[in-house]
Amino acid sequence: MDKRPDASNTHVKVVECAHFWRIESPAGPTSRGKCKHCGSTQEFMNSIPVTVWGRSTPETRKAAAAKR
Ligand SMILES: [Zn+2]
Repeated sequence: MDKRPDASNTHVKVVECAHFWRIESPAGPTSRGKCKHCGSTQEFMNSIPVTVWGRSTPETRKAAAAKR
């Protein structure tokens, strides 16, 4: 009688993490970032600014470059 389907809390697994990357000091051509939330690690190219999320996307940069 107490078995109600709890669909919202069946599998508590970090699948859709909004990855909050903490970029460590650059080591060579890439920097290693570690997610503050789930602990995942990922390498980031140093040629790309860390602030790709939000501000300077490649598209905006291209648009800025074309405007001259
Ligand atoms: Zn994460």
